[in-house]
Amino acid sequence: MLRLSPWARLGLACGLLGLSLGWSPGARAAEGHGDDHGKPAAKATSKEPGKDAGKEPAREGSKDAGKGGREGGREGLRAEVEKAGDKPEAAGVSMTELRDLIDQKIAEVRSKNETAPVLRVSPKTAPAPRARAKAGTAQAPGNSPQAAAAAAAHRAGSQGHDVHWAYAGDTGPESWGRLRPEFQTCMLGKRQSPIDIRDGIPVQLEPIQFDYRPTPFKVIDNGHTVQVNVEPGNAISVLGHRYELVQFHFHRPSEERLNGRQFDMVAHLVHKDVDGKLAVVAVLIEQGKAHPAVQLVWNSLPLEKGLEQRSPVMMDLLALLPQDQRYVTYMGSLTTPPCTEGVLWMVLKQPVQFSREQMNVFGRMYPMNARPIQNAAGRMIKDGQ
Ligand SMILES: [Zn+2]
Repeated sequence: MLRLSPWARLGLACGLLGLSLGWSPGARAAEGHGDDHGKPAAKATSKEPGKDAGKEPAREGSKDAGKGGREGGREGLRAEVEKAGDKPEAAGVSMTELRDLIDQKIAEVRSKNETAPVLRVSPKTAPAPRARAKAGTAQAPGNSPQAAAAAAAHRAGSQGHDVHWAYAGDTGPESWGRLRPEFQTCMLGKRQSPIDIRDGIPVQLEPIQFDYRPTPFKVIDNGHTVQVNVEPGNAISVLGHRYELVQFHFHRPSEERLNGRQFDMVAHLVHKDVDGKLAVVAVLIEQGKAHPAVQLVWNSLPLEKGLEQRSPVMMDLLALLPQDQRYVTYMGSLTTPPCTEGVLWMVLKQPVQFSREQMNVFGRMYPMNARPIQNAAGRMIKDGQ
């Protein structure tokens, strides 16, 4: 049986509280919540828009876990205290008073530590974004500048300052460039996408070689679009360059226009080469007969945003393409923040068809997720004949 004065008990209690809250400058630094707040992440390896949503549940989850941990810690502490002195009243301080003292101390501690940062990222949830990054399922994959910028955005997001960009309103396309320093290219870039593709120079372009095959895939609603993350093993070759297919996703209506014509939807097939350079094949979509491949995507729509749903069947990715694969090509950018440039665009001129019902499936989730047309600014456009 422990004989401690009430103040000694309080000291013990605060010690326990300190342990349970995990205050330690080292721990803070390790979790990246320290001095680098808001600065670009120099050693970022990979991350893109597609991941934004993916990380959200983990972050929310860890917040809750943090809260739970704090509350749990206090209850646990009370239990400890009650166990330590079986009859506090005998020492002249009632248990109620002792609890009040502890609560007061907890409040002091919280006000000093405001956000109790360590608790927000638990060991369980912290590695998740890194693991996903390795899987290469992002919209802007690679270790290039866009990845660093996106990773910075990600880190900022994980500190509770997530930037919610949208297709309308205060955080709509006109504001993207001001939402974060990493998004400046959206406002200042000179080779932005999408554009109205017209007056291309008619030339004979080397056909894109599609090395696509039946492939397992996962579907995610990332809060900006429906995205399909495909297993590795699919690639295109163009101009002697090989780009691996990472993911494809949809916009409604089509972002790009062909000679002024906007299509009902478009699919963007995002590829990257070994250096992280991006090549996007755009497949325009018009209303017509049902498309068997996209039906597989719709069938595997996850019930919750940010969660990947694995399809029980494989998809023959060649089925996504139109028969005639002639294309127009130009250099542009990602059409979502951070709007990174240096993206090789190849827009297939022949559209594929979705049925009205299939269009509506996407339309119920994303009636409008197309960035407005950007200035083509005298860019070279080649029109394959
Ligand atoms: Zn896109």
